[in-house]
Amino acid sequence: MNCRVNIDTYRCNSCETCVIICPEVFRMSPALEKAEPTSDTVKCSESLDRAAAMCPEKCIEIETL
Ligand code: SF4
Repeated sequence: MNCRVNIDTYRCNSCETCVIICPEVFRMSPALEKAEPTSDTVKCSESLDRAAAMCPEKCIEIETL
């Protein structure tokens, strides 16, 4: 199953928690110094769900495609 990940970069505090939990989906944007998805469409996974749940700003939204 594929998912689309939206990150509210305004609320992202650059803590990198999502990158640590799910590096296959999240990376830090060098330009913005905020988290960004590695791709428009990613594979849904337990670690993706966990990353969203652990985000301290609750700014990760996962849409199942
Ligand atoms: S866990 Fe949330 S606040 Fe932290 S870098 Fe990722 S998106 Fe930003």
